[in-house]
Amino acid sequence: MTSQTSLQLKCVECGEIYTDGAVRYLCGCGDVLDVVHDLAALRGKLSLELFDERLGSKASADRSGVWRFRELILPCDESSIVTRWEGNTRLHCSSWVADYTGCDGVVLKHEGDNPTGSFKDRGMTVGATVAKHHGARTVACASTGNTSASMASYASLAGMEALVFIPDGEIAFGKLAQALAFGARTIQIAGDFDDAMRIVQEVCARESIYLLNSINPFRIEGQKAIVFELLQDLDWQVPDWLVLPGGNLGNSAALYKGLAELRELNLIESMPRIAVIQAAGANPLYTAFRTGAPLEPVRGASTLASAIRIGAPVSWKKSLRGVLATGGVVEEVSDEEIMNAKARVDRAGIGAEPASCATVAGIKKLVGAGVIKASDSVAGILTGHVLKDPDAVIKYHGESLEGIHSELPNAPLRVEATLDAVMRAISGSE
Ligand SMILES: *Cc1c(COP(=O)(O)O)cnc(C)c1O
Ligand SMILES: [Zn+2]
Repeated sequence: MTSQTSLQLKCVECGEIYTDGAVRYLCGCGDVLDVVHDLAALRGKLSLELFDERLGSKASADRSGVWRFRELILPCDESSIVTRWEGNTRLHCSSWVADYTGCDGVVLKHEGDNPTGSFKDRGMTVGATVAKHHGARTVACASTGNTSASMASYASLAGMEALVFIPDGEIAFGKLAQALAFGARTIQIAGDFDDAMRIVQEVCARESIYLLNSINPFRIEGQKAIVFELLQDLDWQVPDWLVLPGGNLGNSAALYKGLAELRELNLIESMPRIAVIQAAGANPLYTAFRTGAPLEPVRGASTLASAIRIGAPVSWKKSLRGVLATGGVVEEVSDEEIMNAKARVDRAGIGAEPASCATVAGIKKLVGAGVIKASDSVAGILTGHVLKDPDAVIKYHGESLEGIHSELPNAPLRVEATLDAVMRAISGSE
């Protein structure tokens, strides 16, 4: 019996509690589970000063932007942690982004700074650590790309085999390259993400393979550290808004859970309103939020932002719970809005993958609609690195993305190999 198994798992729907520490992803009723921390035991023992002191520590766990908050993530033996010192991501203020969104108080936390280039590393360090505790030899996931890149890396670090299921032809090149490079056995399913998700759950139920999708409640625990570290970056001042893209909706669920725990421990005095931004072609939560009806999966979800091309998000109940509890909103943005927002973020010298920039497109849209006030403080999450999807960048700047008007194109100049031709080109007279 390892220490993390003393944490309870609780069903978000029927409230059933599991205390046996067995490998379990879903409740008997079929719904998703939450990890329950013993907050009563932690009250009074945790302080913001403790988290700040650890910033200056050289201990491996303290250097990780996840394990620095370990009491609220996964109490366990520090020597058993599988970490790449993830987190510690940069907070950007940019006049480009302020002008574009119409809001001066926007800061962007760039989760693309993580070891494999996305926030998935924060969940994966915890997922891989738990997999090791359970003695797993193989871990598996279905992925639109970044989960597989991250899992492949952490599995190799921990000496486990990685099995990745990806939708055929729908994964960005940077991500596929990482999964292959880190040694994952990669299976391309002739279907979409939702097919891959269904199959990986069936495989993990049959074989003794540990499932590391965000349906795994321990991954959500690691992702909470985005908001812990964000607040630490802001010297524990809570912003008015927290804005992020929504795909499978694990991340928005995680950020709300982390905030609610800080609040319950009286470590923060208020909560930000959570705004989840979906791509218009993969917008089931947006529709559920607007209509108040249960989530209807979107068949044939379609968007250039492949990380959020998900029609049947597994964590929608957890996510919507956070949006409603904080007085937040769900918004949708078109691919054209996403790609033009991305061009600004990239041009500002920050750079991020398409799905990340749904955040900035969403802030712009919500400011335009008066939902976010120009004077509000807004923390946006950029979820992935600019190099994840080079194809989208090259096509945008070559103005060859179908149906999309590029507001800030920057195609390479093609010139003859003569000084004359080059001088004409760089003086702009060609
Ligand atoms: C996974 C991912 C998302 C979506 O997060 P969910 O938890 O699935 O909602 C958004 N952007 C990037 C870059 C991602 O990798
Ligand atoms: Zn249940």
